[in-house]
Amino acid sequence: MATSKCGHCGGHDFELKTIMPAGAAHPVEVVQCSACGAVMGTLQTAEIGEVHALAGRIDAGLRAVVEALNRR
Ligand SMILES: [Zn+2]
Repeated sequence: MATSKCGHCGGHDFELKTIMPAGAAHPVEVVQCSACGAVMGTLQTAEIGEVHALAGRIDAGLRAVVEALNRR
């Protein structure tokens, strides 16, 4: 398997770092080059709490639909 390489400086060592992008609602974890800091990618797109809250709203909506259908 090929060795991962930084596209900016050619470095081969990477690290995790949590950053707070301007205007973001929550911090984002990124993989960056240990030598120059170039970001290789992100590891999360939303806080798990936000995902749980969204799932709860979807569940509540589905229950309302089922109750309405059962009343027919
Ligand atoms: Zn680099």
